Amino acid sequence: MQIIHGKPRNQWLKEVPILQALTTRVECYWINPNKMNLPIDKAPIDEAEERLSRFAPYLAKRFPETKPKNGMIESPLIRVEHMQAALEQQHSRTIPGHLFLKCDHALPISGSVKARGGIYEVLTYAEKLASEHGLLKQHEDYSQFDSPAFRSFFASYTIAVGSTGNLGLSIGLIAETLGFKVDVHMSSEAKQWKKNLLKRNGVNVIEHQSDYGEAVKQGRIAAERKPRYYFIDDEKSADLFFGYATAASRLKKQLLDEGILIDEHHPLYVYLPCGVGGAPGGIAYGLRQEFGRHVHIIFAEPIDSPCFLLGMSTQLYSEVSVQDFGLTNQTAADGLAVGRPSELSSVYMKGCLNACYTISDARLYGYLADLIETEGIYAEPSAQAGFYGPILTARNEGILETATHIVWSTGGDMVPIETRQEDYIRGKNERERLKNNQS
Ligand SMILES: *Cc1c(COP(=O)(O)O)cnc(C)c1O
Repeated sequence: MQIIHGKPRNQWLKEVPILQALTTRVECYWINPNKMNLPIDKAPIDEAEERLSRFAPYLAKRFPETKPKNGMIESPLIRVEHMQAALEQQHSRTIPGHLFLKCDHALPISGSVKARGGIYEVLTYAEKLASEHGLLKQHEDYSQFDSPAFRSFFASYTIAVGSTGNLGLSIGLIAETLGFKVDVHMSSEAKQWKKNLLKRNGVNVIEHQSDYGEAVKQGRIAAERKPRYYFIDDEKSADLFFGYATAASRLKKQLLDEGILIDEHHPLYVYLPCGVGGAPGGIAYGLRQEFGRHVHIIFAEPIDSPCFLLGMSTQLYSEVSVQDFGLTNQTAADGLAVGRPSELSSVYMKGCLNACYTISDARLYGYLADLIETEGIYAEPSAQAGFYGPILTARNEGILETATHIVWSTGGDMVPIETRQEDYIRGKNERERLKNNQS
């Protein structure tokens, strides 16, 4: 008899019925029974907003693509009606309401959602060092971070991170620009082009043969007791989390610009791809603050890496890994290839998350091809996970005609053209196969 975290496997499956689908890699939809309306502390989000504003002149100067928005790292919200129609046709189901895409695959600087949290945490650390060492007073013009004096000061410090790719990319690019030395611990899923890009930018890339959790652990160990060495811990960092959370108030403005006010009669459904849970968790935390119970927050994970759903449904949270239940954590969605959920995000999401579902790699690729054909947009496989959401909520919950659905796209703009072409070809093949299996 196999014992998992103190209980026989059979007993787990009986007590937590969703595990039957999870452990057999069958796509499933889980509604959080512990969802509560908890008050949310706005202070850390405000602090993050203010810090990002202080740094805006610096960002506008060093990253010209942020200049049109005065140094703000933000992405468009667009209506994707052709994709909505394609989804409805493919699944023979109407999606009540309007579908939008939040284009974090096109965020400036690093082309993924990690440009929110990752860059924010590096800026926080840089500001702290600069003010502790008397280089900076809070109200000074932060464009002075772009100076030889600052860069040579930061050159004696190292920033390190463990990553499946995109977090390393975000942190590597901003930290290197500020003048820091950078160590990025990459897990085995990390794509070669991501490693190459970082190396070209002078980042020290340490390649691990193990998965994401192990790469983070190795990075954490390597960082221990080293002076002038700062490890960004994706499983525990509050700075990352609140950096992501700033997305929400900006989204609210974008919705208002579209003439959309969210209330009792106009609910908002947001579908977020989930790896360790930091990015979607931070964004969800901010959304809950902005929209209260009128926003429905739904996470999406690959069938082979459903760590967040596993942690929440078993209430083992970061104590459990998908490997404990016999799953491989092998998925083509490299950004979501995480076996154990974030401790910090689990705590915040316990009462905040509405639902979580799993999706097969085949379906991710199918949507990738659909999005290219219907809207002319490329986003990486991980970023497609949200598109199944409106279909599943329509199937599992009553949705008002007045609803707004937002699929959060999370990465893609840095992906080389050859990889995009390969992804598109695979997408068309997977879509064909799915269609044949259905009929
Ligand atoms: C990191 C990442 C996610 C998920 O973020 P987590 O903080 O790991 O949950 C989703 N999509 C892409 C493309 C990512 O790189």
